[in-house]
Amino acid sequence: MRLFPSNRYYSLVMKAHIQTYGCQMNEHDSFRIMEILSTLGYEPAKSPQDASLVIVNTCSVRHNPENKVYSYLGMLRPIKERNPGLIVAVAGCVAQQEGENLLKKSPLVNLVFGPDNYFRLPEMLDEVRAGKRVVMTGWAPGRERVQNFIPEPWLERGHVDGCKAYIAISKGCNNFCSFCIVPHVRGREVSREPENILREARGLIAKGAREIWLLGQNVNSYKAGDATFHDLLDAVSRLPLARVRFTSPHPKAWSNDLADLMAGRATICNQLHLPLQAGADRILKLMNRRHTIREYLDKVAYLKSRIPDVEISTDLIVGFPTETDDEFQQTLDVMRQVRFSQVFSFKYSPRPGTKACELGDDVPRAVKEDRLARLIALQDQINAEQMAACIGRVYEVLVDGTHPRTPGVSSARTDGYRPVSIAADGLEIGDLIPVRITGVKGHWLIGDAVRQA
Ligand code: SF4
Repeated sequence: MRLFPSNRYYSLVMKAHIQTYGCQMNEHDSFRIMEILSTLGYEPAKSPQDASLVIVNTCSVRHNPENKVYSYLGMLRPIKERNPGLIVAVAGCVAQQEGENLLKKSPLVNLVFGPDNYFRLPEMLDEVRAGKRVVMTGWAPGRERVQNFIPEPWLERGHVDGCKAYIAISKGCNNFCSFCIVPHVRGREVSREPENILREARGLIAKGAREIWLLGQNVNSYKAGDATFHDLLDAVSRLPLARVRFTSPHPKAWSNDLADLMAGRATICNQLHLPLQAGADRILKLMNRRHTIREYLDKVAYLKSRIPDVEISTDLIVGFPTETDDEFQQTLDVMRQVRFSQVFSFKYSPRPGTKACELGDDVPRAVKEDRLARLIALQDQINAEQMAACIGRVYEVLVDGTHPRTPGVSSARTDGYRPVSIAADGLEIGDLIPVRITGVKGHWLIGDAVRQA
């Protein structure tokens, strides 16, 4: 594999624009892709109009993001007509799934590459410049799949976003939840060696990271030799960091040992994203989630007994095939019991190639929309009550940037991941400071910095 090719093609400043859809893993992949491109002489372009290369990094977990990819490609058509030299590439899950089809469906696409092929970008771009339309969606075999996850030279080139950095510790998934396309487009699960991850973490800390997120499709089934996720989290959370977060764990593999580790280690945030998907056992079984509601609630109860202030968020799907109104009510009941801090909720949409697709899609759209609206209304009510209860309390927050709509106001996050705006002079990204919550505006808490003696 060639990582640092000659620059014979690259005498002019070239600009690349990456359009990212989907989850944090995709965001992280886009940072990596931009790093690779920077070694070829590319600089980031703000828009596709300014770019000589546009990469659409795609997600196919939901139907809507997949539609967005095709409408984005449609939007690129007039830009490519004006600039025929523009290289258009499609990466990520849709690229893996569609492969050659993408070239057929979209004549302006020059390059299609899947998640196992990012580090081959230099040679792929060479081929495109030689006039070929290229598709690279193969899987690296076994061990090589781990090694090419992040090749050695790239360990030192991690990206710190403000004071936060993301580390992919595993990729792929073996769970085959019946609604999910991930195992088909991201492949079987592989985990990086702990020492390799710790080296990357130390490099990120040296570059200013104060908070590290450990990422994986199924983070708590991490296993490298004898090392488990518990071992890895233990080791990373001993590094000189302010905060460690991880996403997403699977409830089936969540253990009380992990709750104990969270409770006993100050650097591990008191926040857990624990995807539930549905509140009825029959639906969970059809989803192939391999745990029951009772097991989920018992694990949550133990975690709350160890960390009373813990904030738990989740994913929920409404209108899964055959879901009755009574079963949907059970989902609302679980929400009332757990009182999630945040719910990422979706209407079910069938993904071709998944097991759930064979069940049909029998819940009418209007019913799905009604259930989704009721679910969102309940979560809004719970969230409003939780935010109001924060007023008057003091939280330690990590300053991570400026408020997106209010110049001069800093943004920060509580340990439980609630956004806080702070109007105070002299704050810097990476400051860990106490703030008193004085009010609420939309989804933001308003905080006053507490003067320290
Ligand atoms: S655990 Fe289930 S929902 Fe999550 S990535 Fe794997 S198959 Fe998909």
